[in-house]
Amino acid sequence: MQVSVLGSTGSIGVNTLDVIRTHPDKYQVFALGANRSVEALHQQCMEFRPRYAVLRDTAAAALLRESLAACSSDTEVLEGEQGLIDIAAAAEVDTVMAAIVGAAGLDSTLSAVTSGKRVLLANKESLVMCGKLFTDAVETHGAQLLPIDSEHNAIFQCLPERFNGLREAGIRKILLTGSGGPFRQTPVTELANKTPAEAVAHPNWSMGQKISVDSATMMNKGLEFIEACWLFKARPEDIEVVIHPQSIVHSMVEYVDGSVLAQMGMPDMRTPIANCLGWPARIESKVESLNFYRLGSLEFSAPDFERFPGLGLSIEAMRVGGDYPVALNAANEVAVEAFLAGRIGFTQIAELIARVLDVWKSSEPDSLAAVKDADLKARKLSEHWLLSQ
Ligand code: NAD
Ligand code: MG
Repeated sequence: MQVSVLGSTGSIGVNTLDVIRTHPDKYQVFALGANRSVEALHQQCMEFRPRYAVLRDTAAAALLRESLAACSSDTEVLEGEQGLIDIAAAAEVDTVMAAIVGAAGLDSTLSAVTSGKRVLLANKESLVMCGKLFTDAVETHGAQLLPIDSEHNAIFQCLPERFNGLREAGIRKILLTGSGGPFRQTPVTELANKTPAEAVAHPNWSMGQKISVDSATMMNKGLEFIEACWLFKARPEDIEVVIHPQSIVHSMVEYVDGSVLAQMGMPDMRTPIANCLGWPARIESKVESLNFYRLGSLEFSAPDFERFPGLGLSIEAMRVGGDYPVALNAANEVAVEAFLAGRIGFTQIAELIARVLDVWKSSEPDSLAAVKDADLKARKLSEHWLLSQ
């Protein structure tokens, strides 16, 4: 099977290549794509010998071209957004891992969808932004969408094989679990002073910077709530968020007879990656076994919407619909970047998102261009708010 990995140098990308490394007989890397990490991509090219490597940044792509040529590599280096779009759509490719972070992954992820690929979706932001257009395109182009996000992958594993909607499957609700992140128990009065270093130090998962901050604000759970609505044709009232600090149960599905199915495992993204790469077969991931003797107790509780206003804002954005989720996602991306750069404090992330949604005039985005317009408009509003601080 030929695989293109978009975002290969990131946390999901590296874990994907690790699973592929375990199965050289099953998977070949057709192409690797990233933003501007020349050295990391060079190393990956030397090990996996893909046909193509893409860096979005043109100057970085030139450096990679030089360094690979010096090592007599056969890998051809492409550049820019078009390069990423092309390696997602190439006729030789069966499977695309969509693991670029943020709205930057939208075009290449959609390129894989409209080319009818098996799409392993880590880039939740693209589904949050384009829910209806995205899921319609999956149907129209006969793509196969498999969820990499651990919660959605867990839900997927708890669904019947031929799933066509919650009611038809006899499902009462989806229980979306989340650890509560590093600040679950921090006194609320101390949140404003939390630093980027403290925010990215997740207790259970090792992930990229943006999603780590999203986990600290619980905006990640908010984006996942929207993601779950689209993936599983669920209404907001069908999904309940459950705090589970140990990150062992990755989510659950409750059926009308009262049965609750859960998927459990170590918090290691190689499990959902192997599940999607191998699906419907099971393949080795090298993830260690759960040790129930050592686990002790698993805890569950209700989320604290006052501590994590971003969660409520996300659910509300999904309820209102239209391009509210686009505005929510864009404001969050600008806010996280500003927080990481030291421009705003931790609690101002949710403040900024709330401000943008307050003034947002919603419309139904009926094209990709309309989604991008809304994204740009929300980013401008966010920047404007930042300057006023
Ligand atoms: P990361 O920051 O570790 O890696 C991001 C990757 O995207 C890198 O390869 C980077 O080069 C590339 N990239 C960044 N900006 C780009 C741009 N403008 N153009 C092209 N490439 C660009 O991120 P990550 O933690 O691996 O997360 C990737 C995606 O997977 C996110 O959408 C995240 O929400 C989702 N996800 C991650 C995890 C996890 O455990 N890390 C779990 C679930 C979902
Ligand atoms: Mg997740």
